[in-house]
Amino acid sequence: MHPSIQSKLPNVGTTIFTVMSQLAVEHGAVNLGQGFPDFPMSEALTDLVAKAMKEGNNQYVHMAGYPALREALAVKASDLYNAQLDPLTEITITPGGTYAIYTALTTVLQPGDEVIVFEPAYDSYIPNIEINGAKAVRIALQFPNYSIPWDIVRTKLTDRTRMIMINSPHNPTGAVLSETDMKELASIVEGTNIIILSDEVYEHLIFDGIAHQSILKYPALLERSFVCFSFGKTYHCTGWKLGYCIAPAALMNEFRKVHQFNCFTCDTPKQVALATYLSNKEAYLHLGSQIQAKRDFFRGLMKDTPFTCIPSHGSYFECYSYAAFSEESDKALAIRLTKDYGIATIPVSAFYQNGEDNKVLRFCFAKKEETLEKAVAMLKNL
Ligand code: PMP
Ligand code: GLN
Repeated sequence: MHPSIQSKLPNVGTTIFTVMSQLAVEHGAVNLGQGFPDFPMSEALTDLVAKAMKEGNNQYVHMAGYPALREALAVKASDLYNAQLDPLTEITITPGGTYAIYTALTTVLQPGDEVIVFEPAYDSYIPNIEINGAKAVRIALQFPNYSIPWDIVRTKLTDRTRMIMINSPHNPTGAVLSETDMKELASIVEGTNIIILSDEVYEHLIFDGIAHQSILKYPALLERSFVCFSFGKTYHCTGWKLGYCIAPAALMNEFRKVHQFNCFTCDTPKQVALATYLSNKEAYLHLGSQIQAKRDFFRGLMKDTPFTCIPSHGSYFECYSYAAFSEESDKALAIRLTKDYGIATIPVSAFYQNGEDNKVLRFCFAKKEETLEKAVAMLKNL
């Protein structure tokens, strides 16, 4: 007899990103689904990794991360957001942003706690909450501009509300939070015991001259926040799976208790390389405009298709409505486009627990121009 276990995530299947990427491979489709670039990352950075390995940086680094990298991140936080961080106690390098988010939730949540989550929500959030025995309180962003309905947030607060999760620039929609949003959030949490989890993995991938509203800019929010970042997204090397978390010392101390017995420490040569790379501000100052050029190019191509643009202001993604030309479900359309038209996308209903379907597909534009041209050419036949 095979022993059985009780599932901790009985309602969860395989992530939509894997499902659509697999379908793209099976049908030889251009993959604008899962968010990963197909253009090369910085050669200067890969050279630095090779150098770090050759120079012998191949053993464990400090449990919280390579000290010089944490120092470089503290300098960046001061320059960009005027946040004065202690790299010894307030920054921890993690194996990716997803891990940082999971660890922060696991650090805080007790069974029965409630976490406010905005939908569409990045797909790991709710399973990460539920595996900790806590409850996701879902609030829909307002369609079609995907803004936060703060009046509804106020009505959902209870004495069990433990955390609020925010994500700007937002995946899947490319919406960004404004200064007014941050003030609303600050007024809601003031005087409460609520912890904020801010997913800022697209911190630098923000367009149209908009300033990223990092939690790091707001001392009254930072004192109660875990802020999560991803080098993979920032430097177009999603397979590196390296990121970091910033939190005040008391919260970070608890985060590290969880981290040290799960991962303990992350890839050394890449941390050594990033410490040198980040010492030059050019490493992060122009990232937004490079990716914006791709968004603009893609948006221009999409004008010749029947899709309606829901403008993205950040991230790797832009959403498009097809309500004007089809009644079918977004999942059915995404599958049909992959099989019959050779282009994979992500149906946005996958980011809602109840499968809410606003007839919207997410496209990843972080691709070479020729890839985007090839993909959109197929849509013109729709
Ligand atoms: N949050 C969001 C919103 C993301 O899009 C991603 C990218 N996969 C992550 C977190 C996680 O990043 P990482 O690949 O570094 O785990
Ligand atoms: N963040 C990426 C996306 O949204 C994918 C990450 C993953 O495959 N888990 O497409």
